[in-house]
Amino acid sequence: MSPAKKASNNYSWPTRDKQPGHETYLFNRVAEKDSHLLDAARKLGAYRVLEESLEKRKPEEVTGLVKDSGLRGRGGAGFPCGFKWTFMPKPEDPRPRYLAVNADESEPGTCKDRVLIREDPHLLIEGILLACYAMQCRGAYIFIRGEYKNEAMVLQKALQDAYEAGLIGKDILGSGFDCDVQLTRGAGAYICGEETALMEAIEGKRGHPRPKPPFPAGFGLWGQPTTVNNIETLCNVPFIVDKGPDWFKSMGTEKSAGNVLAGISGHVKTPGVFEVPLGITMRELIYGEAYGGGILDDKELLAYLPGGSSSGFLPADTLDTPLTHDDLKDQGSMLGTASVIVLNETADIIQATRIITEFYMDESCGQCSQCREGTSWLSEILLRLEQGRGRADDIDTMLDLCVQMKGKTICVLSDAAAWPIELAIKHFRPAFEKAIASSATAVSSTASPAVGSTEGSEEAVR
Ligand code: SF4
Repeated sequence: MSPAKKASNNYSWPTRDKQPGHETYLFNRVAEKDSHLLDAARKLGAYRVLEESLEKRKPEEVTGLVKDSGLRGRGGAGFPCGFKWTFMPKPEDPRPRYLAVNADESEPGTCKDRVLIREDPHLLIEGILLACYAMQCRGAYIFIRGEYKNEAMVLQKALQDAYEAGLIGKDILGSGFDCDVQLTRGAGAYICGEETALMEAIEGKRGHPRPKPPFPAGFGLWGQPTTVNNIETLCNVPFIVDKGPDWFKSMGTEKSAGNVLAGISGHVKTPGVFEVPLGITMRELIYGEAYGGGILDDKELLAYLPGGSSSGFLPADTLDTPLTHDDLKDQGSMLGTASVIVLNETADIIQATRIITEFYMDESCGQCSQCREGTSWLSEILLRLEQGRGRADDIDTMLDLCVQMKGKTICVLSDAAAWPIELAIKHFRPAFEKAIASSATAVSSTASPAVGSTEGSEEAVR
């Protein structure tokens, strides 16, 4: 077994021999030499499942295996993957159909797909081709975030090699199945990770989310039936098709099956991306020797985000929550991208919440007033609380704003901006109350212009 690889940004991942007592598969080739190159990947088994499937399995069998496995999307929403594939029209529908592959990975704290793209691009291509075969798509479009320049280069080379080897294109491996795969680079906008904005961007337009319905399976890329899948989701597919749904369901929990790539960052001793079975507790993930290794400088844990910035801060007394879709939902949070960001006791929860809110303010596409104005007003309130200029009714104002921002907009960015604030106030209300009480200007909003008002100076608004 080769030693654990170190990526250029010091994010590390364990090799199989360092995994404590559970089976791994997604990262098994990542630990091997030249795993990103076609020859090495094929010697390690790449494209074997595709070859067998094109020869022996009908498209609907591939869909059935993925559906029966219970694989849920790993891009954030957690929607059942095989079920999503069945939304595509029946084979007799003559319209062209497409797969859009979401490699935008812009959720703060999330960098798991990057490892798969950079270290095992042929696993991804095999997953894409199996998905296309199952849904009878003749084309797949990978949308990769602009900042992933190196990953785009690795993936482009892998696509070229796969084309030259007859693994993509016309009559793949002599099976009669045709499928093209194209890579498109983004320009760095977070909103392009939203599935309809992603399709707009692939079409060469501004990455603005589309109202739904119509949904992508009916009206997607260029108005044709389209399924959007995440990188990690697709990388699970070859293993499920090869080993079967029961094998997949033997890992994880009943409703959250399989392994997941969990990223751990922030105030932990060993940040990295780790392959873990769903159902592992947040405590094990953050404190386990094989994972986060405990809190940096042996300080106390203040809070953690379990699934990216929109999942909201949870306090230390929730550490025994299992990393699953339902358990984190019960805590008012979500699994999201399983990207855990940890804050120790030296962090300021108001400042951390303000930084997240400003991110959403910057990334709002501006189509919906609730999102465009709401994120800006929330940022203003949080900033003045942080700077000791809070008002007596700031907590109520923020909670009211959050209610107005949820469920009313074209996409869920507006909701994603509101959730962290609601959770922060729910779990860390004393910190907000203390900031208001110690504010020199802790006055009722009736004494000064309301947030977002055009009256008065900027200072008065803040
Ligand atoms: Fe744009 Fe925000 Fe509306 Fe989404 S919710 S479409 S990001 S303005």
